[in-house]
Amino acid sequence: MIEIRNITKTFGRQEVLKGIDLTVEKGEVVVILGPSGSGKTTLLRCLNFLEKPDDGTVNISGEQVNCKRPTKQEIHSLRKKTAMVFQHYNLFKHKTVLENVMEGLIIVRKLDRVEARVKSIEVLEKVGLGDKLDMYPSQLSGGQQQRVGIARALALEPEVILFDEPTSALDPELVGEVLSVIRKIAAEGITMIVVTHEMGFARDVSNHVVFMDGGVIVEEGKPNEIFRSPKEERTKQFLKRIT
Ligand code: ATP
Repeated sequence: MIEIRNITKTFGRQEVLKGIDLTVEKGEVVVILGPSGSGKTTLLRCLNFLEKPDDGTVNISGEQVNCKRPTKQEIHSLRKKTAMVFQHYNLFKHKTVLENVMEGLIIVRKLDRVEARVKSIEVLEKVGLGDKLDMYPSQLSGGQQQRVGIARALALEPEVILFDEPTSALDPELVGEVLSVIRKIAAEGITMIVVTHEMGFARDVSNHVVFMDGGVIVEEGKPNEIFRSPKEERTKQFLKRIT
């Protein structure tokens, strides 16, 4: 279980997160929706301290970190429980597909090369890239590169995978292949938090929708509740604009 309590974050004078509380149960697929600039990505990045929250607490499976004064050890162990899939893939350009996935297993998980190779091939096959092991990122489509990004996260077997707009850099015809891989992983019961503008995905795959605006969670609930009968005016307006 993940518990976030009273997370705040300010950039300069702009208060981007104004006290976020969120609970994510094990195995949940949480989708975070909201207009541009509402703080979705910042919230995601605060969970693994890619951005350090100013205040509040983050608790992932029982280990609570006080955001005001986290120790290096706490940040390190929190990061070990998460893996992130980035909008722009963030692959190592001079490493092959297989090496990109092996890297984290060797450096972070301390697996030896043989074990890392076996595990990496297994996850790359799962995302449909078993025949691309020796290719370089530049030889792949955006959709394939993002699937490497997903395989890399999956290989680490984290408590939660954080997806930051995983399809928004892709050409429209490549979005489907990436969403279907995410869908497949979701069906395996891995906890996920996904920032996305893909409403169809949010509706079909998630079991918990969070709507943010202006640095606060305006409304959250089951996809049916949020999409069919949103309670808050801001949610209604947002959904009207984008659907
Ligand atoms: P989008 O849907 O456009 O990606 P978002 O809801 O994910 O938006 P964030 O990326 O979290 O929003 O940004 C929220 C606000 O914080 C924006 O006004 C943004 O400019 C600002 N912001 C984000 N990161 C930084 C940073 N590193 N330094 C300064 N301001 C930042």
